[in-house]
Amino acid sequence: MALAKNLGTIKKNRLSTKQKRHPFIFINMKKEEINFFMREAILEGKKALPDCLPNPPIGCVIVQDGKIISRGHTNKPGSDHAEAMALKLLPKDAKDLTLFVTLEPCSFFGRTPSCAKTMLQYPVKKVYVGTLDPHPKNQGAGIKILTDANIEVETAVLEKEVLESIESYLLHDF
Ligand SMILES: [Zn+2]
Repeated sequence: MALAKNLGTIKKNRLSTKQKRHPFIFINMKKEEINFFMREAILEGKKALPDCLPNPPIGCVIVQDGKIISRGHTNKPGSDHAEAMALKLLPKDAKDLTLFVTLEPCSFFGRTPSCAKTMLQYPVKKVYVGTLDPHPKNQGAGIKILTDANIEVETAVLEKEVLESIESYLLHDF
């Protein structure tokens, strides 16, 4: 009986793995999947505190074929932002990437290079953003860098939950 139960589990796991590898899943990502990955990005962002301060505790996850293959969060000032950390941790053969980040990627070179520009050096196809950055030097400029490079961007993903996790930390200088 125990063996039969195990076999059942293995069969079920195989099926779900196959489904996750279906090439169209990440293109037509369902709302539930999008929300799931954004919540993972929110959780990842929480790891940034308190070292990231005064920068906001941003989180990022990178998805390939329906699976998270890399994560990143804001590091101490002058070190990698969430996106830069996650991109650096990608496996070498990464491709067709979908990126989830709680805050609009930065467009300008502050203490670290622009995350939006760094993204262009990687095979990123789509970026889901939690909320736009109210920082006076950003405010949509980060999104424009991506869309100008033909990367699809969707903003205001789970914005209410995202803001609950980062709003009180925004508007600080980078
Ligand atoms: Zn950045």
